[in-house]
Amino acid sequence: MADNTKHYDVVVIGAGPAGYISAIRLAQLGFKTACIEKWINPEGQQVLGGTCLNVGCIPSKALLASSEEFENISTHASDHGITVKGASFDLKTMLARKDGIVSKMTKGIEFLFKKNKIDWLKGEGRFVSAQTDKVLLEVQGASGVDSVSAGQVVIATGSKARHIPSIPVDNKLICDNEGALTFDKVPVKLGVIGAGVIGLELGSVWRRLGSTVHVLEASPQFLAACDESVSKEAFKLFTQQGLKIEMGIRINEVKTSSKGVTVAYKTAEGSDTEVQFDRLIVSVGRVPNTENLNLEAVGLSVNEQGFIPVNDYCTTSNPRIFAIGDVVRGPMLAHKGEDEGVMVAERIAGQATHIDYNCIPWVIYTMPEIAWVGQTEQQLKVEGRAYKAGQFPFMANGRALGMGTPEGFVKILADAKTDELLGVHIVSAAASDLISEAAVAMEFKASAEDIARVCHPHPSLSEVMREAALAVDKRALNM
Ligand SMILES: Cc1cc2nc3c(=O)[nH]c(=O)nc-3n(C[C@H](O)[C@H](O)[C@H](O)COP(=O)(O)OP(=O)(O)OC[C@H]3O[C@@H](n4cnc5c(N)ncnc54)[C@H](O)[C@@H]3O)c2cc1C
Repeated sequence: MADNTKHYDVVVIGAGPAGYISAIRLAQLGFKTACIEKWINPEGQQVLGGTCLNVGCIPSKALLASSEEFENISTHASDHGITVKGASFDLKTMLARKDGIVSKMTKGIEFLFKKNKIDWLKGEGRFVSAQTDKVLLEVQGASGVDSVSAGQVVIATGSKARHIPSIPVDNKLICDNEGALTFDKVPVKLGVIGAGVIGLELGSVWRRLGSTVHVLEASPQFLAACDESVSKEAFKLFTQQGLKIEMGIRINEVKTSSKGVTVAYKTAEGSDTEVQFDRLIVSVGRVPNTENLNLEAVGLSVNEQGFIPVNDYCTTSNPRIFAIGDVVRGPMLAHKGEDEGVMVAERIAGQATHIDYNCIPWVIYTMPEIAWVGQTEQQLKVEGRAYKAGQFPFMANGRALGMGTPEGFVKILADAKTDELLGVHIVSAAASDLISEAAVAMEFKASAEDIARVCHPHPSLSEVMREAALAVDKRALNM
């Protein structure tokens, strides 16, 4: 019988940001590359881009932008002396705009695959066996099963929303990120379980569009991964905006009825309470996608948290197989997966690329945004590292006042002796862009003084970065 197995130098499983970027870099380096992807969108089309493009970063940022535009027009335009009467929005158009952006982006990856001669194998990939010179895989597609072999395999199968068995997600009344990006009307009362990044971003979208939003969080500490001064400031600002955030609760029961969703919970103080919502978003983290991969066939398994164990270079215990992105340890962030995708491709090509995980920036796209890179003050205290801190508020920056975004600050932590940057924490309307300067500086092992000595444009929000760097040595100029 003829062997129809198609051979590639490298096969990538998953075309989210980690996988598609890795495939492109592999192709650029001259490898014959294929990428297996199974995603089918609600219109029944097979699409590339994974969680990030279809139901994550891109659609959420589109809705955050639209809802912010509405809030600015309806609430803040009057601060500028602009009168807008009867501002309203059409949710259908807003959602269609978001879908249009998603479609443009996913088609863009299709174009890039064609341009780089990457074969898109449509369907679900699974391992068959690992041989001395290659790895065998199968792709279950619409028209049957295809066999594929590869010299190397990159697993980039990403993650999905964590569900709690007692809270059945139907993506109508009780939604994860997928349902919460497609509500057909604005809920009057919206509940959000989980005050993490996704809960706060999606809660902010619907609050701006008119929902009363009540966020319920089990942890007693708000945004525990952030520097404490940032989480305190964020809690103050978000509650001022109208988000009701309740910490330290325990969910007892979630019930649906014709009236909506009832959540029964114990408050931090121990009293039993019940709240009725029109809709509920459950955002309690994400779990790696490894089911059906048949990892055992190639001698791999997952750890206790469900991640595929890898070393610093994303190599698994099988030297022919790599794993990147949300399916491995580290922050579940698109740009972290992209960098791992590039690193793995370049290492397969014999290059010495590495990633400094301490320099990966984190962003929460609320308003104001929150962004940080490096260590928090709490972490430095636990480590016993001697540090200096400098902080400067946007309230004292002319550009921020002109833009009507005086909230927040930049806080810089530097080594007490060497002045090396250890962490930069930003609360600002433009934190997602401002943090790049800090990430670059930290990659170059810069000191706070390096930032303080660099000429920053005036007037600009970036001047606050410089002032915070000056404040590390108690010599801020505008304070
Ligand atoms: C609402 C929301 C907002 C977010 N916002 C941000 C943000 O602003 N910034 C940020 O950095 N991150 C954000 N994230 C996180 C970000 O989306 C993820 O970190 C990122 O998508 C991970 O990339 P990945 O390539 O590892 O996996 P994914 O994007 O999950 O892609 C994995 C792909 O693998 C495919 N796949 C899985 N198993 C198989 C198989 N066996 N065969 C074939 N294909 C398979 C899946 O279909 C999927 O397309 C957000 C996430 C959500 C849910």
